[in-house]
Formats: sequence, structure tokens, C-alpha cells
Amino acid sequence: MNAVDIIIKKRDALELTKEEIDFFIQGIATNQIPDYQAAAWAMAVLLNGMTDQETTDLTLAMAHSGQIMDLSHIIPIEVDKHSTGGVGDKTTLVVEPTVAACGLPVAKMSGRGLGFSGGTLDKMESIPGFRTAIGQDEFVHLLKTTGLVLAGQTADLAPADGKLYALRDVTGTVPSIPLIASSVMSKKIAGGAHAIVLDVKIGLGAFMKTIDDARQLSRLMVAIGTLSGRKVVALLSDMNQPLGNAVGNALEVKEAIDTLHGHGPQDFTEHCLTVASHMLVVGQKAKDLTEGRKMAEDALYKGRSWEKFRTLVANQGGDVSFIDNPEKLAKAPFIEDIPAPRDGYITEINAQTVGETSVELGAGRVKKGDPIDPAVGIIIHHKVGDRIKKGDVLFTIHANDRDKLEDAKVRLLEAHKWSDKACEPLPLFYGVVQ
Ligand code: URA
Repeated sequence: MNAVDIIIKKRDALELTKEEIDFFIQGIATNQIPDYQAAAWAMAVLLNGMTDQETTDLTLAMAHSGQIMDLSHIIPIEVDKHSTGGVGDKTTLVVEPTVAACGLPVAKMSGRGLGFSGGTLDKMESIPGFRTAIGQDEFVHLLKTTGLVLAGQTADLAPADGKLYALRDVTGTVPSIPLIASSVMSKKIAGGAHAIVLDVKIGLGAFMKTIDDARQLSRLMVAIGTLSGRKVVALLSDMNQPLGNAVGNALEVKEAIDTLHGHGPQDFTEHCLTVASHMLVVGQKAKDLTEGRKMAEDALYKGRSWEKFRTLVANQGGDVSFIDNPEKLAKAPFIEDIPAPRDGYITEINAQTVGETSVELGAGRVKKGDPIDPAVGIIIHHKVGDRIKKGDVLFTIHANDRDKLEDAKVRLLEAHKWSDKACEPLPLFYGVVQ
């Protein structure tokens, strides 16, 4: 067996065997298969797809490329959530501490930015000192002692996904149902979560542009999780416009902190409370969504979510003075408010354009290993359906370079579409798959 034959087989749209998938993924994990072959294979998968059997085999191969944690001897039920990737999606920063504050342990394996979507690890690393490389022993220790841990892949945990994820980010191979399903579920299986809430994004700023694709991805992930003995529920959520207002790493951390103090944007707060309620139900802490919601609101509005977040940051080496005084977080040298060019109702704020603009400002990567500028990004001040007056501040750009700021201004004005007639706000959710 060799890597070239496996790439050719997928290029020719043939079904790979479990042995071939295991060989290829093991080769990626152990650096025996170079990046260019892994990237060529990922492109063949993106173009030709995979059967459900291949996707399941791929998920298990990536999960088993490192250790599989079995946490049942430590805690009876551990929950996790995972988003399929969006713009302004800082949900984890609020939801995980909220659920942990309700007494349900949460162990999260997160990713970095992927294409135009942001990543939790990059956001958390805006907090000086915060460590996301957590080995298995520390992962278990933190979970046992505080019921909350947020880690990235290490040599121990789904390393093949870590490598493939970094390559997909910069080779145009993100929006593939089998690659997303296996990437998400391999991390969840390796991390040992017993119950998982998947936040499957749909729309302009998501990798799944249609409800049908999002449902297919959701069903596949729920099926893979169930086969591995996990309880999984997938929420289909809107990603046509950015979630909340902030896009960009430190800006999103600030917005998450505002939300943890009870005064975040309304759509983002509502999104977090819904995801947290589902986690409390699948984690058997709440008997139904109404009870879950009440518990989550209680934790959020009584300051317990914030206290948990603070503990998480301190435990993983972060300097808490930066979250206690978020104005200390990195600040861009050029900050400009851009006024609305006309009166009217906003009918679209293209989240993909906003995400791409944020990457161009330096908040994401163009090449593997590119550094991230934590300070740059965008604040979108309005939502679809809002009525705006000419001259109102439409968005604010945080840039480290004047030319980039000017380019971003043009793109972001184009991302906003207008009407003279009133239009409906966008829904937050489109349904649930379980
Ligand atoms: N999140 C992941 O972990 N992987 C993907 O491929 C997309 C979103």
C-alpha cells in the first residue's frame, strides 16, 4: 500500500477501504505522509466525496491517531459542544463556563481558525499566557478539580486531525461534508465526551450553505457519535450574518466577557443560552429545555459563568488581569467608524465577506503557520432587519495597516445590502437533529 495509490483511487472517485484509510491517516499522524500528499488527498475527498462508511472509518482512524480518553471513571457524564465553524462565533467562551457553573463537567477540544471562520484557540490565545496545549494528564486533572478544560489537539489527542485541519485551512479544502464530520467527531470521540451538542451553522458565513447540506452533515455526525456510544444532538443555526457584533480574536474575547457579565449582544446571548440548555439536557442535569434554560440563565446572570471562565483562564496560565480589565487586551493602531451610506433597512450582512475581510486584516491565516494578529477585526453594529439612518455608524474596523483598513472598508460596505421596505430579522435556529 502507498500514499500515491490511495490519492489516485480517491481522485478517481473510488471507495477507500478501512485499511487504506487507516494507513493514510497513520501516515499523516506520524509525518510519513508529507503535507503535499495529504493536501492532494483532501482535495480529492472534497471533489469526490466519501460514503458514510468511509467517513465513519476516517473519523475513527483520526480519533485513534492519538489516545482515546475514557473519562467514565472520573465523572459520570461529561458534555461537550462543537460548532462547524462560523463568523463571530465565540459561543464556546460563554457556554462552556455556563454549563460547568451548573455542575456539569465540560472538557472541550477546540480548533483554530479555519478558512474564513474563526477558531476558539486563536481567540483564547489573545489572553496573554493562556495555554491550549494541554496533555492528557493535565486534561484529566483540570476536569476533576474544576470541571472545565479547554484544549487543542496535542500529540496525545487526535493529532491527525490537527495536522489535516491546519492544511485544509490554507488549501481550499474545508467545505466538505466528510472532512468536516470526521474532523469534528474525531475530536469529540478522542476527548471522551459522553454527550455532545453540535452547533451546525448554515448560510453565507458557514461551510454548509443550504439547510439540506446542513441536515445531511448533522445526520452523519449524529450517526457516527451514536455508533461510538455517545449521545449527540445537532442544532441547525443561522450563519448568514455574523453572530453577535465582534469578529476578530481579542474583540470577540471582549464581547464574550461582556456577555458573561450579562450585557452581551441580544442574538449572541440568546444563542448561548439555547446551546447551554441543550447541553444541560443531554448531560442529564436538566429534565427538559425549560429547566435547562432556567439553570443557564441563573448561572449567567448571577455571575457564576463569569467566575468559571476566570478559573478556566487562571488554570491554563492566562493572565486574569487582562480579562478583569479587557481594555488591556491587544488594541489595533488604526480604528475607524464607518457611517451608513444611506437610509434604509438592512437585508443582508454577508458573513462570509465579513469573515474573509477579518482574515485579510490579519485575524486568520493565509498560509499554514501564519501568525495571527489578535488585535484586528471588525465590529458590525447592526443586524439584518434593522432600520438605519444615513450617517449612523454601520461598522468599525480595527486594523494594523492603513491600506488594509481602506480595502476592508470597501468590502464591508459591499457586504451590506439595503432595501427601502421593512424586512424580517433572521431566525437564530432552523431546527434540531437527534
Ligand atoms: N470544526 C472542526 O473541528 N473541523 C471542521 O472541519 C470544521 C469545523
